[in-house]
Amino acid sequence: MTDDALLDVLLAGGRRQDRVTHVEHLPPRAAEHADWPRWADPDIVAGYRALGVQRPWVHQVTAADAAWSGRHTVLATSTGSGKSLAFWLPALSAVRAGVAAGGPTGGGASPFRRATTLYLCPTKALAADQLARLERLLAAASVRDVRVATCDGDTDPTERRWVRDHADVVLTNPDFLHFSLLPGHARWDRLLRGLRYVVVDESHAFRGVFGAHVSLVLRRLRRLAAQHGRAPTFILASATTADPAESAARLVGVPADDVVAVADDTSPRGRKTFVLWEPPLMPGVAAVLPERGAEAETAAHEAPMSPTHRTATAETADLLTDLVVAGARVLAFTRSRRAAESVATTVHDHLEAVRPGLGAQVAAYRGGYLPEERRALEEGIRSGELRALATTNALELGMDISGLDAVLIAGWPGTRVSLWQQAGRAGRAGTDGLVALVAREDPLDTYVVHHPEAVFGTPVEATVFDPGNPYVLGPHLCAAAAELPVRGDDLPLFGPGTAAVLDDLVERGWLRRRSSGWYWTHAEPASRLTDLRGSGGRPVQVVEAATGRLLGTVDAAAADSTVHPGAVYVHQGATFVVDDLDLEASVALVRPRTVDYGTWSRWLTSIEIRGVRAERRVGPMTWGFGDVDVTSQVMDYQKRRLPELTPIGGEVLDLPPRTLATTAVWWTVPAELLAAADLADGDVPGALHAAEHASIGLLPLLATCDRWDLGGVSTALHPDTGCATVFVHDAYPGGAGFAERGFALGEQWLRATRDAIAGCGCSAGCPACVQSPKCGNGNHPLDKAGAVGVLDAVLACRDAEAAPDHAVPDRPVTPEG
Ligand SMILES: [Zn+2]
Ligand SMILES: [Zn+2]
Repeated sequence: MTDDALLDVLLAGGRRQDRVTHVEHLPPRAAEHADWPRWADPDIVAGYRALGVQRPWVHQVTAADAAWSGRHTVLATSTGSGKSLAFWLPALSAVRAGVAAGGPTGGGASPFRRATTLYLCPTKALAADQLARLERLLAAASVRDVRVATCDGDTDPTERRWVRDHADVVLTNPDFLHFSLLPGHARWDRLLRGLRYVVVDESHAFRGVFGAHVSLVLRRLRRLAAQHGRAPTFILASATTADPAESAARLVGVPADDVVAVADDTSPRGRKTFVLWEPPLMPGVAAVLPERGAEAETAAHEAPMSPTHRTATAETADLLTDLVVAGARVLAFTRSRRAAESVATTVHDHLEAVRPGLGAQVAAYRGGYLPEERRALEEGIRSGELRALATTNALELGMDISGLDAVLIAGWPGTRVSLWQQAGRAGRAGTDGLVALVAREDPLDTYVVHHPEAVFGTPVEATVFDPGNPYVLGPHLCAAAAELPVRGDDLPLFGPGTAAVLDDLVERGWLRRRSSGWYWTHAEPASRLTDLRGSGGRPVQVVEAATGRLLGTVDAAAADSTVHPGAVYVHQGATFVVDDLDLEASVALVRPRTVDYGTWSRWLTSIEIRGVRAERRVGPMTWGFGDVDVTSQVMDYQKRRLPELTPIGGEVLDLPPRTLATTAVWWTVPAELLAAADLADGDVPGALHAAEHASIGLLPLLATCDRWDLGGVSTALHPDTGCATVFVHDAYPGGAGFAERGFALGEQWLRATRDAIAGCGCSAGCPACVQSPKCGNGNHPLDKAGAVGVLDAVLACRDAEAAPDHAVPDRPVTPEG
């Protein structure tokens, strides 16, 4: 189908024309080819030819050449630009070169010269997908002497031994390195002694706290490889990001000058039509559906207020249905697991109404499903047996699924990098593709669909993470010491704060200091001190009580608000009710029950300043940045009938408080500013709370995170500052750099916040301005006009240097040093 025809389907013969806020036509691009490198193994080249790659693209050869010559290399190009050729060509050629030279094949006591490659990617699913593609290539090349295998937490001991003894290419994830391969490095001697390449695929996914963890895992790997006599070359494949060399260098732990960045995409591209879409206003009562990004779930509830836009979820379900009926193959990306389930269920019902049996062509896809389930769904959409998947960002990475007719994106996916990754699944060379971004009722979404330049005129972000976060660094230093005592020489590898963190670990009894270095002397494996996913604990398993069947998992940090006793849990359209949540055992027991309501929990939050790292006075008000303790406790939940969300009762809960030690930015509003804003005492909490919500919604425009990476607290009198204060904090132990960015760009941030609230057409506040989908207090109290007044008063404060910049940044956001 042409993109014009697809767009006609979306517009429904003009009926939905007024929902389009912008149409961008992205022109096609012609391919630029290059010759195969002379060093490339002829059989592997023949294999690629047999698969239809007659000549590689220029960017593939440029990157492969750099890697072959031993330079660390990052290839940052679009989805479908053949990045894997750029790393498999040198990696497989290296193995084959060893074979041709008659090198030993491993095992025994021979001098191990055969080149090995370690391939790392963010998920097991992606590694399995790469393995299948690699096996296809080797079969097409009729190459039988290169042994490839995946190895991860699911691999059984016998298989693991085979991989250790024989595999030339091992596909795995950073978690397996952290928990198994690095602690057991002596057993992986053959692999490490031959280690020529380390491939890091989808490297832009390693950002935030996860990125900090992975960067330390890679430093541990480099240290152990050196111990086994190797200094491997790193090849990173990334989405298009700003400053790829800088991010790659920080991830690997080398100077940026040591990394060759290849970012000129020479793959061909079809015509693509990109539509920005705002769902219509709904008359009467409406409310926010709870949504939570990044593969987690939470709950919230809303006091219905003025008319709001139709939810992105409902709108996307309609558009998806029409596209499937028209014969298109479509992916719909949602911001939450719950939304993915909801879209799939709604579309299923719509399709059944069109023609019985048609409903089987749509399914939901998300993290928390079991691997076999996910494999079957991937195969279904690839083969065309399924026409549509409603998916979380679990499908954003890697997976060999592209060339779809259309991609619907229900809600701003958090970063421009994610947006383009998701959009890249639509169309392929020679065919058209349609992409629609459907706005949610959210300050950032609303801002973006009315400011196309924020999407099309602004470069993508740099990948931000901080390997120096002591909460992340500490456990990795313990793990490193357990693998091989840490010597003074190792300190530069782990960064400038290392000595101080080591002192602290010694003082707390984790490490022992001897003249020769730092030692781990506990019986427990040091790698157990942390996982890499930043969720702050084991995921909670959701288990059907009667059968013991594992339905899925929920992030530990979200468990008390989503799978508390009485909560409704949805899995592939079936509803379950939680009977029991055991936080010690990380298990929630559920039973199937058909219910017509959803559950929304409420919690109390308080914040305490532990240390001020930076302060800035602007007239009478103060900006602060520092360490805080955020304590929250889930108190109760409400039941609301679906879909109209009428309250039908609730229960008080008895759950323990949780404390998060993290970093926050804060700004104060002393009494004279409250007076200037003309606020009565009773109006202050609502005004601050509304300003807090909106500012959390807007910070992701400046700080390359999304609102689920943040939290906030506002109070009319805070004991640590002595006056009215708004806090916005990182949602991760030790912080993640986002709040710090808010501190650095404070005036610009609050200016955008003020404009987003004042520019919203609602009367008393809505989800597009001051309501929040993750408010622990049911969005109460909120005072929209008061928020604008407070922000005007604060922004009127000037000091000598303060010259607020009105514009959205037109340059990439770079990481803070
Ligand atoms: Zn509004
Ligand atoms: Zn709130």
